[in-house]
Amino acid sequence: MDRVLLTGISGFLGGHVALALLKSGYSVRGSVRNLSKADKVRQTLENAGADTTNLEFVALDLNRDEGWKEAMEGCRYLLHTASPFVLQMPENKDELIRPAVEGTERALTAALAANVERVVLTSSMAAIAYGHDASRTAPFTAADWTDLEGRGVTAYVESKTRAERRAWELMSAAGRQSDLVTINPAGILGPLLDEDPGTSAQIVLRLLNGTVPAAPRMPFVVVDVRDVAAAHVAALTGEVGGTRVPAGERPLFLFEIAGMLRKRFPHYASKLPKIEMPDWAVRIYALFDKDIRSNLGELGVLKRLDSGPAEMLLGRKLIIAEDAVAATGESLIAHKLV
Ligand code: NAP
Repeated sequence: MDRVLLTGISGFLGGHVALALLKSGYSVRGSVRNLSKADKVRQTLENAGADTTNLEFVALDLNRDEGWKEAMEGCRYLLHTASPFVLQMPENKDELIRPAVEGTERALTAALAANVERVVLTSSMAAIAYGHDASRTAPFTAADWTDLEGRGVTAYVESKTRAERRAWELMSAAGRQSDLVTINPAGILGPLLDEDPGTSAQIVLRLLNGTVPAAPRMPFVVVDVRDVAAAHVAALTGEVGGTRVPAGERPLFLFEIAGMLRKRFPHYASKLPKIEMPDWAVRIYALFDKDIRSNLGELGVLKRLDSGPAEMLLGRKLIIAEDAVAATGESLIAHKLV
């Protein structure tokens, strides 16, 4: 049975990837920062219908050298999803950049030393579509790279861009560029596997909780977590070695997401914003709110992502954004988070 080292198994995406791997018959060695999380992760996966007989855990920290060599032993593939994902940018951007870049170095160096067959790295649309001219209307593709010198580049965007660049450098220095695949998802929504809303579901959570009285004209390209997880698994063996796989179904303004939620969950209609906030008001509001301030550069900037490579890899269309939004809302309600 083929064993995969899956970093970040405790995360929103990591859990779905583990589920997809186990259901596809892989043996999974999942990494957590602290082994005290292992039982909870196992239980969550069992609740979601996985047979966890072939699941084991190792402790790995992106910021520490310990354990990486041993963790890779006996693994045919590396699937590296772990990286800090936050909404509020830290004062010191290295809090995000260091674990993202050095964690990628640790993971890929160990994978190369163990001669794994393929590395699949969770990168992001953040490494593709930022720092560009805001008037661009053409979809972003696998050929585009975020311009770190451009406007509106946050610490998170920088962390993902530098980490992916480093991954390609390391693989090509080892003459193994064709054994790396990066999955570059847009904003991931979809069903939560447990009661931790994490970072990804925050948009829908805040809307349903009534904490967004008026919606800023903030667009998000949305992709469903089930598609992103399936793409990671397919990339282990698919004919996509040496490529980047962008994945995002379509861009939605926050107000459109609110409209979808209102239609699907009429009981929550009174909580959802009924108006869009004009950009000038958002700019004033941002003077007092750090979260909004760090994303001001995105106000009104509608980006599209060419998901051809993801659809080719999956052999089908991506789950539509409406369904990803609805599934997020349904699981937030089911877990009594709203
Ligand atoms: P998440 O739920 O916060 O998961 C992040 C994972 O990374 C967790 O397992 C976390 O472990 C682990 N991690 C963070 N810092 C670590 C460290 N220093 N050492 C070891 N592990 C560490 O976020 P997610 O949404 O699933 O994101 C997973 C990946 O997808 C990330 O690479 C993210 O950049 C990428 N991505 C996410 C989105 C999105 O919209 N969600 C979009 C594009 C790309 P703990 O449980 O111990 O914290």
